[in-house]
Amino acid sequence: MNDCVFCRIAAGEIPARLAARAEGALAFHDLNPRAPVHVLVIPTAHLGDAGAVGGDAHSVWPAVMELAVEVARREGIADAGYRLVINSGSDGGQSVAHLHVHVLGGRRMTWPPG
Ligand code: 5GP
Ligand code: ZN
Repeated sequence: MNDCVFCRIAAGEIPARLAARAEGALAFHDLNPRAPVHVLVIPTAHLGDAGAVGGDAHSVWPAVMELAVEVARREGIADAGYRLVINSGSDGGQSVAHLHVHVLGGRRMTWPPG
């Protein structure tokens, strides 16, 4: 997936500020942060969206979600609380077609989302 920006970040071809990595998952800071802490957690293998997880990719959810929670702890927002967001597909507001979890914190989140 040479045309996928997150695959290229995972391959080290595009620079990103790394936050953490684990087996099968990578965390890096969002280029356009929407909160004081805004980290993206991706599976290192390309999966387009939430619906692509399953079958051979069954270990993706634990890898990605466990790293997201670990990032929240490392970034110092675990006690105050944080939000994990997955935008999937066009109505979900997904703009990069490589599955990612947003880890957002450092301020009070609003609800419901827009
Ligand atoms: P989505 O809208 O798909 O849920 O989220 C995509 C996120 O990726 C956006 O928050 C956007 O700022 C971020 N993003 C897009 N391109 C890059 C990039 O090249 N580097 C980094 N670090 N973040 C990016
Ligand atoms: Zn990709």
